[in-house]
Amino acid sequence: MTVRVRIAPSPTGNLHIGTARTAVFNWLFARHHGGTFILRIEDTDLERSRPEYTENIMTGLRWLGLTWDEGPFFQSQRLDLYQKAVKQLLDQGLAYRCYTTSEELEALREGQKAKGEAPRYDNRHRNLTPEQEAEFKAQGRSFVIRFKIDDEREIIWNDLVRGKMSWRGSDLGGDMVIARASADGAGQPLYNFVVVIDDIDMQISHVIRGEDHIANTAKQILLYEAFGAKIPEFAHTPLILNMEGRKLSKRDGVTSISDFKQMGFTSEGLVNYMTLLGWSPPDSTQEIFTLEAAAKEFTFERVNKAGAKFDWAKLDWLNSQYIHNTPVDQLTDLLIPYWEAAGYSLAGGRDRPWLEQLVGLLSASLTRLTDAVDMSKLFFSETVELSEEGSKQLQQEGSKAVLEAIIAALEAQAQLTETSAQDIIKQVVKAQNVKKGLVMRSLRVALTGDVHGPDLIQSWLLLNQIGLDKPRLSQAIAVS
Ligand code: GLU
Repeated sequence: MTVRVRIAPSPTGNLHIGTARTAVFNWLFARHHGGTFILRIEDTDLERSRPEYTENIMTGLRWLGLTWDEGPFFQSQRLDLYQKAVKQLLDQGLAYRCYTTSEELEALREGQKAKGEAPRYDNRHRNLTPEQEAEFKAQGRSFVIRFKIDDEREIIWNDLVRGKMSWRGSDLGGDMVIARASADGAGQPLYNFVVVIDDIDMQISHVIRGEDHIANTAKQILLYEAFGAKIPEFAHTPLILNMEGRKLSKRDGVTSISDFKQMGFTSEGLVNYMTLLGWSPPDSTQEIFTLEAAAKEFTFERVNKAGAKFDWAKLDWLNSQYIHNTPVDQLTDLLIPYWEAAGYSLAGGRDRPWLEQLVGLLSASLTRLTDAVDMSKLFFSETVELSEEGSKQLQQEGSKAVLEAIIAALEAQAQLTETSAQDIIKQVVKAQNVKKGLVMRSLRVALTGDVHGPDLIQSWLLLNQIGLDKPRLSQAIAVS
């Protein structure tokens, strides 16, 4: 079987999670069959399409690893092809010019509504005589091109996800508009039409898209027939729902792939999660896998019909697994842009080895990459903010003397190491005759401002390397 599939986003917004998930399924299916994955930008809506959205879509797909083999093709550059196809249908008598005005259509809809009927075009201009047409033109009416839909038809297809689907021609809203008049008189072909022309031209074997397109599929099948073209297989994938079972929307805080990136998700964690939105591998206990591994197992038999609930906790868990398993040097590369975006300066001794040491310290505590921003703030700022608990700790009896003893011991050190840091603590415990806990807590507060935080010795070493430990100890002594 030669598999050719496509993702066909409209560049009227950033790459949406729903579109990206559809792209995932297309990609997996193409790779499973050694087929071709095509990117087609559906930018026929010139008013709402923007080049920056096209850019965002392509960047997002690449970031997720959803590489395409052909394209991007732009519908706006293919108008000739569509106009020829419109003409062909007109010449064959399968389409016609409809001069019904918007007021007439409105009156028609009102009448249908009053009778409790579903709104539909009543095909009134299907068989105009040349005289009638001339009359409408003389009145200065503009026209649309409608494709004839036989009310008696039953449209049936075997959906790869949903099984046998059937749709009555009479439920498709009457003869469908395939092109509108345009200022240049050449006509502006519409979505349901150009999709079919492109899918025929690009020899798409399987149309894999969201279930919100089911009604379009019924109409599109009639167009394939009109052109005598081979009808592709269809797979309508389940919608993504929120935890309450409603369609995921902006209100759920979920928008585009670039937002997910900004929120600190890794591309691998996110794309792994999206793969599980409506699909599961044959071994359903297996949850962590690469796109390539999923592609080996991907079949539509394992795609659910029911909507897929978007579970933030699960996404967070998967993301944390990827972060914890990312080697320190790669994780450092991933984190640097977040630190830079937060305005942290990497100057002042914060060189690559130092940054990698910091990443090693934080890695296991990160769920999202953005967590590193807050967690590492104390390593990038000159001074620390004292928490309430921290402040209390510095007021404890003996705290000040402990900190003074630590500074004195530090003065005698050429370079602090893990061993010498431990030794200083032991030495101070002994000399001051205090509990180790007091020394550790006071030191932690002096260095970090708080009583909780990452490994103390490692934090100390990091601060020592950039010369911030002594000033912080002095500052703490001043307030204790
Ligand atoms: N441009 C359509 C969309 O963004 C694509 C539909 C299709 O895949 O046929 O929803």
